Formats: sequence, structure tokens, C-alpha cells
Amino acid sequence: METIAAESAPGRIRVLSEKVANQIAAGEVVERPASILKELIENSVDAGARHVSVAVRNGGKSHIDVIDDGAGMGRDDALLCIERHATSKIREHGDLNSISTLGFRGEALPSIASVCRMTLATSPAGAMAGTELVIEGGKLLDVRDCAPVMGTRVTAGSLFFNVPARRKFLKGESVEEGHCQEAVIRQALGRIDVGFSYARDGKELFRVAAGERTEDGLAARIIGLFGEKAMRALIPVGRQVEGMRVSGFISRPGGERAARDHQYIYVNRRNMRDKIIYHAVNEAYRSILPRGTYPALFLYIDLPPELVDVNVSPTKAEARFTDNGALIGLVKSGLLMALQAAGAEGGAPIPSGISFAPSEGPPRPAPPMILRETMAPFAPEITPGVMGASITGSPQMGEVPAISPELAQARPLELGLGIPDDARVVGQVFRTFIMLEGGDRLYLVDQHTAHERVNYEALYSRYAEGRVESQELLFPIMVELTPARAELLRAIMVDLGRLGYALEEFGPREFNIRAIPRIMAGAEHKAVILEALERAEGIGQAAGFEKMAEPVINIMACRGAVKAGAKLDPREMESLLRRLAECKLPYTCPHGRPVALSISRDDLYRGFLRK
Ligand code: ADP
Ligand code: MG
Repeated sequence: METIAAESAPGRIRVLSEKVANQIAAGEVVERPASILKELIENSVDAGARHVSVAVRNGGKSHIDVIDDGAGMGRDDALLCIERHATSKIREHGDLNSISTLGFRGEALPSIASVCRMTLATSPAGAMAGTELVIEGGKLLDVRDCAPVMGTRVTAGSLFFNVPARRKFLKGESVEEGHCQEAVIRQALGRIDVGFSYARDGKELFRVAAGERTEDGLAARIIGLFGEKAMRALIPVGRQVEGMRVSGFISRPGGERAARDHQYIYVNRRNMRDKIIYHAVNEAYRSILPRGTYPALFLYIDLPPELVDVNVSPTKAEARFTDNGALIGLVKSGLLMALQAAGAEGGAPIPSGISFAPSEGPPRPAPPMILRETMAPFAPEITPGVMGASITGSPQMGEVPAISPELAQARPLELGLGIPDDARVVGQVFRTFIMLEGGDRLYLVDQHTAHERVNYEALYSRYAEGRVESQELLFPIMVELTPARAELLRAIMVDLGRLGYALEEFGPREFNIRAIPRIMAGAEHKAVILEALERAEGIGQAAGFEKMAEPVINIMACRGAVKAGAKLDPREMESLLRRLAECKLPYTCPHGRPVALSISRDDLYRGFLRK
């Protein structure tokens, strides 16, 4: 070692005072009022509370109250709990491998206490008196007896009164309050067996009773927090593989939301926003989400504690899993099974046994429509047999109902799931939609979208199994490219081979398509290659073909699909619907456009002001 004047330099390193250390730790844990709530509620739940009652004022900035009926603390523990690294939850390092409580770092209370004015009142069950601590900016001002609390009450006021820089970063009252409410909801969904109530500025906004940790219990809680309507848009998930389990509720196809709210994921009862799990969710919903929509997720993943490390971030929002692959597989398959089952409720989404109306000979001209001159409510007669549609059992015409305001704004068209088995094709509309009549509904299937879905699934499963068969072309198709695109094509040529395309360089910028995927014989192959290159440019080649495969399959599915405007004969319509019936997720095209819409007979009758 060089001889630097080490000894003579004044010591510059100091051990931080307890108070400063706490404030620094608070920087990690206490970001805003909602983060205080999270920590306090976790403590209440860990203490075995049956009910946790939360109240905030001024968005939690001036006042937060968390009251529980848990185990409470005696005086010694109460004094200890505001010390750094004081925890009753783990004792030794080994315990970190099997944490079943929400807290364990022993940092929350001292951190919170260091940045606000806190009162903590607590007493264990049966105690004659309780202990009340008054702490200001981390300094213990008073310890006194108080009436028994039979649990614990923590009041955190004047947040960041002593850290003006942080106080400045707090948002407006309504934003902070929104976060507070969200924090309570997150905890409340994590522990169905604990009751919760939440009040804002003296007004109770929700109260949910302790329930059972079952599907019904969760459903009741979701209804209690979000209402019946939100619940109706959900379907149950339940899958177990080798000691790992995923359960809960997710959006039914077509029930997705326009915002990324209502997404709650719990791993071993701990709320997480984990990338791995979101990845698995995206995989499952990959091809059915309309653009700009997001599935609601109430997902509970239970793993043996030794397979997950939650001690990764101070807020514990992410975890490390021993086996990412198995976890992704579990979540993805659990969701896919639920989505498929949803389609099967009440008959396959599209039936396999569609029957066609017996050949009707040359189409009869539609009877002339007689329009009345007045705009008064009228009841047109529906002629049975028009286009083969027989509306049977039409009720007697009675009173003409007035159009109610809610009917006027109702959207009678619904994503047409559950087309019944005995549905029959009535015809093709606008050379774009296949029309079916089944049960009490009229269904319209978009021929292009449906075909895209069929192609997509056929291609994707073959690609995934590495068996997209090729078919040599008798006359190769020539493609001429810009030098940059030619370069790009050279780079992804082998990968396109895995999708069934054999390409051959023909000149510096010319290529021949020599073979095409057999199942896509009728596709516009040149367009597929050109569009694939366009996408490759957009995505960036560095992303690798794994990223590219999906968009290219989308392009192939689209370019191989019958177009809107193409006339289909009954046999073609039948075969398309049969193949659609075999799809795993027949609700949308790969970009999320709906495959089918339906309108109920009731809505039609109502529209025509029939009873
Ligand atoms: P941690 O939760 O990580 O242990 P905290 O600082 O949040 O750390 O809490 C410290 C300790 O104080 C806990 O381990 C627990 O023993 C006790 N404690 C905190 N809040 C409560 C409560 N509401 N009821 C009973 N005990 C509590
Ligand atoms: Mg804690």
C-alpha cells in the first residue's frame, strides 16, 4: 500500500444516529400515506386481528387511524416495537426461508414514527390497562397508561411535518386518498378471513365482514368492495399442480376493463406486482384481449414457502421464485382453462354440430317493406320464412311499450359467446358476416375475424410443436426488396423456415419463395413476407425471432383469411364455423376484435316495440 497520510486525515465516516437511520429507512418504506396504511394494516393482520378499521383525513396527510382487535402488546413490547429491527416475527436467519407473516423486517414502525406524530395505544387481551406512546419525529415524548384497547390503535398524523422536502412531493388530497383506499382494498383482498372498514373524512366508504377463504368468500368480498356488476364480469380460476395452486377470479372473455385497475395478485397471501406473474397472465390472454383493454385479476397463488423468497424489496412487491418456469406454466394453464371453460358454459362457444337450413331453392324476394308515414310506435309484421328465419312463438301483439331511456342507450349487441348447438346458419350478410339463429338469439360471425382466429391457432400450435409443414410451389414467387430489407430477410430467413416458408436468394435484392406453409396454401405469401419484414424493422432484429414469431403468425393468419366482401357458399360457411368450434379461444381474432356478436330475440322484439 502506498503511504498516504491516512492517519493524519480527519475521520470522515460516522455511524448514523438512530434517528437519521430511521428517516433514511422511511424513505424506502414510507413514500406516502398509503404506504403507512399498508404497513399498519399488515401489522394488524399479523397480530391476528379479526377486524381492521381504517380512517383517513385529508387524504391521509394530516391523519391516519388504524384500529385492530388483534393480540395487542404489553408495555415492554410496545416500547420495543418502535426500535429499529425489533420484530416478534423472525428470530434467526433460517426463519427467512419460511415467512408466513406479512412483516418481518422490523422497520416499519420506527420508520413511520420518524416522519410523523404518532400515537400508539395497545393492550393485550384481558389486560386491565393499556399503554399509550406518544412519539414525534421518532422521539418518544410520553409513555402512559390508557384504557384497555383490546388490540392496537395507531394514529399517524402530520405526515412529513419534519421532512418538508418529502412533504412537497405528496400529491393532492384526492390522489393520496385514492392511494389510501387502494391500499386498504389490496389488503382486504389478501385476507378474506379478516373484516375491514374504511372511512374518509368521517364517512364510512366500505365495510366488509370476515369471511371464509373459499371461492364464495372471495366472491362476497369482491362484491362488497366493487359491487355485483364487477363480479358478473368474472369467471373462476382453479388449478393445482404438484403443491402449487392458482385460484381466484379473472375477466370473462369480453368482460375486460378499459383500465389496468382491478388487478390483484397474491403469492402466499402477500400482494405482489410481480413481472413473472404478469408475464404468465399476458401469455394466457395474449390473443383475446381487444386493444386497450385489461383483464381484471383476483389471483391467489399458493406455493410452498421454501419455493419463494419475498425478501427482495423493502415493500415486498416482487419476489424471487425457485422455479419461474413451473410458476408461469401453472398460472398460464390455470387461466387458459378458465377462459376455455367460460366459453363452454351453456354449449361450446361455437357448436360443432351446426346444421344448415334445408336448401331453399332460389332465394325468394323479400316482401316489400311498408313504411308507415308517422313516426309513431309501430309494430311491423315479421314474415316467417324471410331468409329462412322463422321467428316462432311470437307473442300476441299487446300494448306497445314506450322506449325507456335505459333501453335507448342500452347496447343490445353482445359478444356472442355460447352459440347453442342447434344454431343454424341463416345466411351471409353484406358478404362479411355469417348470420345464425340459435335459441333465443341471432348471431353474427365476422367471417374474416373468425378465419383469422382459426388460422392463428392452427399455425401457432404447429409452430410451437415445431411441425409447420411446407409445400413446394410449382412456380416460385419472386420478391424484390430494398437493400436494407434484403439484409433483414437474410437474417430471419431460417426463422421463417420454421413457419413453413422456404426462401432462396436469387440476386442481391431478389428472393424466391420456394415453399409455403401447407396449411396456408391460399394465403397472399408475398404480402406476408413484406409485412413480416416491416414488423421486423419495427421490432428491431435484436429482439430475436422469438419476439417476431407471434406477429408473423398474426400476419400469416390475416393474409390467409377470407376477406370481408367475399361471397361464401353454405358449405364454406359451415366448414369455417366447424373449425372455429375447435378453437381454444374462439372469441376474438388475434388482435382482439370480436369474432361474433349476438342480439337477443327480446331485444329485437323490444326494438320493434313488440311485447
Ligand atoms: P415487522 O412487522 O416487520 O415485525 P414492524 O416495525 O412493523 O416490524 O413491527 C414491529 C413489531 O411490533 C412487530 O413484530 C410486532 O411484534 C409489533 N406490532 C406492530 N404492530 C402491531 C399490532 N398492530 N398489534 C400487535 N403487535 C404489533
Ligand atoms: Mg410490520
